[in-house]
Amino acid sequence: MTTKIKFARINPFFIALLFTFISVSGFGNGESHSDKYQIHIDGNNVKTAIIECEMLLEDDQLYMSSIGANQFSSRWAHFIQDLEARSLKGDPIQIDTLAGSNWKIHAKPGSRIKLKYIVKLDHENFKWSGGVDGAAYSREWGVFYTGRSIFIMNGQHKKDIIVAFNIPKKWKVSSPWKNSSSQPYVYSVNNLTTLSDSMFFAGTHEEYLIKRENFELIFAFGGKEIIAQKEKFTAMAEGIMDYYINLFGGVPKPSPEDSFDKSMVIMSSSSNTDGEVIGNHISILLKENGDMMSELIGRFIFAHEFFHLWNGKSFTPLGNDCEWFKEGVTNYYTLKALYHIGFLDQDSYLKTLNDLFYQRYDKDKAVGIHSLTQGDLKHDHWGLIYSGGMFTGIAQDMIIRSSTSNENSLDNVMRQLYKKYGGTNEGYDLAALESLMSEASGSDQAGFFKNHILGPKRIPVSKYLNMGGFEAQEIDGNLVVGLKKEVSGPEKELNDGFFGIN
Ligand SMILES: [Zn+2]
Repeated sequence: MTTKIKFARINPFFIALLFTFISVSGFGNGESHSDKYQIHIDGNNVKTAIIECEMLLEDDQLYMSSIGANQFSSRWAHFIQDLEARSLKGDPIQIDTLAGSNWKIHAKPGSRIKLKYIVKLDHENFKWSGGVDGAAYSREWGVFYTGRSIFIMNGQHKKDIIVAFNIPKKWKVSSPWKNSSSQPYVYSVNNLTTLSDSMFFAGTHEEYLIKRENFELIFAFGGKEIIAQKEKFTAMAEGIMDYYINLFGGVPKPSPEDSFDKSMVIMSSSSNTDGEVIGNHISILLKENGDMMSELIGRFIFAHEFFHLWNGKSFTPLGNDCEWFKEGVTNYYTLKALYHIGFLDQDSYLKTLNDLFYQRYDKDKAVGIHSLTQGDLKHDHWGLIYSGGMFTGIAQDMIIRSSTSNENSLDNVMRQLYKKYGGTNEGYDLAALESLMSEASGSDQAGFFKNHILGPKRIPVSKYLNMGGFEAQEIDGNLVVGLKKEVSGPEKELNDGFFGIN
C-alpha cells in the first residue's frame, strides 16, 4: 500500500501543528540521530492523537509493543489509522501491513524518514482481559496512554528518544521521562523498552511529587472525586513509601540494565475499580462513589505494585519457581503497610486476610495438588501462588520470630535480598531463599521447603498464627482468627511483628 499525505484535508489545527512540528524538529539541529516523536492532541477532539515521528531506520521493520491487545488480530495497530511515511524531502515511501502490529517499510536501513499516523482513542469500547492491559482511555480531564498503545517503533538500539507534545494551552503532561529541553513537555527517553513500558497523562489533572533520596514518585490525579481526596492519597503514599524504605534500608535499586529513578502513579475515577502495573508505573482506576471494598482494593493495588519496585525490580527471581515469593510475600507486606498507615486496624487486617486471601486459597483447586514452584499457574491459580505465597511468608515470619525471640524476622530476609541483589544484574533462586530463611531462623528450612514449596502440601496457616497470640482455626473454607484475650511477652511481640509494628 502506498499513501501520500493529503494536505488538502488539513484544517487550521493541523497548520498550527505543522509549525510546531517544524520548530520541534529543530531541536536536534540535524546533529542528533535520536528518533523524535511529536504527539498532537486537539482539545476539541481528544479521542484522536496525531503522531509525527522522525526516525533513523535500523532495519525495514516498524512495530508496536508485542505485549497486550491480544484480543485483536492486528494487536495495538487496531487503533492506528492513516499510517504514512515519507522521506525527509517529502517523497512518499511504501509501507506494507504485516501480521499483528508490524509493518515493512520500503526504505534503506540508515536512512532518515518521517512517519505520521493517528491513534483513535476508543480502547474503552472493547473488552480487555486480565486487568486493563495497557489500554488507553480518555476522561473529561484528559487522556491516558501507555507506551504500548501509542508508539510505532523501529530497531532495537535507539537511545535518548525525544518525545514532545503539542497540547491545548490549559493542559499539562505528567510523564516519567526526563525533561530534555527548556521548552515544556519535551522529554528524553533512555531506550525503546523504557518508551514502550511507560505511561503518561495529558490534561487538566493535578500532579503531586514525592521525593526520597534520588527517587521520585509522581502522582497524576484525575477526576473531581479523586482530586478532593488527593491529600488523603498522598499521605497514604508517603506513609507506605517510608515504611518500605525503612524496611529495606533504601529506595528501589534496580539492575543497571533496567534503571529508573521515577515512577508514575496515575489515578483516575472510573466506572470500576481496577489497576495494573506496566514497567515501573502504576495505573489505578477507582470507582466513583466506591464502597469500602473498592477503597481497599484501590489502596491494595497501589501498595502491592509499589512494593514490587523492591521485591521484583531491585531483587528479581531467576525463574518462575520463585513467583510465589514475589507475589505472595508482596501481599503480606502490602497488608502490613496498610496497617502501618492506619488504613487497616487489627480486625480489618484479619478480616482481609480471610476474605481476600484465605477463601481464594481454600477454593483453589490447584492447592494440595500443584506446588508453589509452578509460577506459570499464577494467572489461573491466584489462590495457589498469590495467597499460598503469602501464607508461606507468614509461616516463615512466625518461624523466624518465634525461634529468635523476635530478634529476627522475614524483614531480615527482605533486607538481605535487597542488599545482595539490589543494583546488580544478578537474580535470586529458590536455594538462596531457603538459605536466607534458614539463616534468619537459625534452623534448617529444607523440610519446610520440601513439603510446602517444592511439594504440594497445604500451608497450615492457623498453626503458624497460633505461634503468636492468636486463636486461629480453619473452618469451612474460612480462616477464623481472633486475638487471645490477654496477650503479653513473646506472644505480643509476635503479633506486633505480624501486623508490621516491629
Ligand atoms: Zn504483583
